[in-house]
Amino acid sequence: MSDLDQAKRDLVIANRILAREDVVDAYGHVSMRHPGDPGRYLLSWSRSPELVEGTDIVEFTLDGKKVTDDGRPPYLERFIHGAIYEARPDVQAVIHSHAEDTLAFGITKTKLVPVIHSGSTIGAEVPVWDIAAKFGKGTNLLVRNMEQGRDLAQCLGGNRLALMRGHGFAAAGSSVMDVVRIGVYAPKNARVQTSALRLGEPLPLYPGEIEARTDMFNPSTAEMWRAWEYWARRAGVANLLGDPPKAARPSGR
Ligand SMILES: [Zn+2]
Repeated sequence: MSDLDQAKRDLVIANRILAREDVVDAYGHVSMRHPGDPGRYLLSWSRSPELVEGTDIVEFTLDGKKVTDDGRPPYLERFIHGAIYEARPDVQAVIHSHAEDTLAFGITKTKLVPVIHSGSTIGAEVPVWDIAAKFGKGTNLLVRNMEQGRDLAQCLGGNRLALMRGHGFAAAGSSVMDVVRIGVYAPKNARVQTSALRLGEPLPLYPGEIEARTDMFNPSTAEMWRAWEYWARRAGVANLLGDPPKAARPSGR
């Protein structure tokens, strides 16, 4: 299987996982940087993630144009993806989500911070992007062009997650598995933090604890594969899984 076919297959798995885990619904999307051309990315045409199949994946240039125009409508907010890839050569996969549990942190002064071990994946700093700050109070809140996408990417900076005021979030990962982890655990972390706020002042993870967990979940570890396989099975796409990395094989070879 070519790198491109494998990337498309993993992107289908990611779409289905995010739908199954309620990170996305009819709306929201996930993309991957093209494995053979860093100036392009892969993203479904305008379908709900739960329905996405391999043939739905389309190639885009970073400014959001289809490489081949086949008449299928693209997502309106695809500019989120290209702008982040343009600003961040280290980023290989991006999610845009409207997950409800994170939204309160985008409309109040309370910052979303990692409060549980699995929440360390959101990173120590989660900035909030307010579209009104640069584009005024009359937008429809959607990221509809590269100028808005670039403003969001600038707010994201070198972080892994940015909240979008009154709208959702954008997550940036070093691989598709990595970004799916952010997508799944950001809302869970937000739920725990929200519960804790009712009881008192939550204690966030210490910077050293966040740092200590950064290398645990790269795609070659048994820990990452364990979650990827589990999520794929729950989402009904275990048949698309490729071979596990060496570290995740019972023989260790
Ligand atoms: Zn959106």
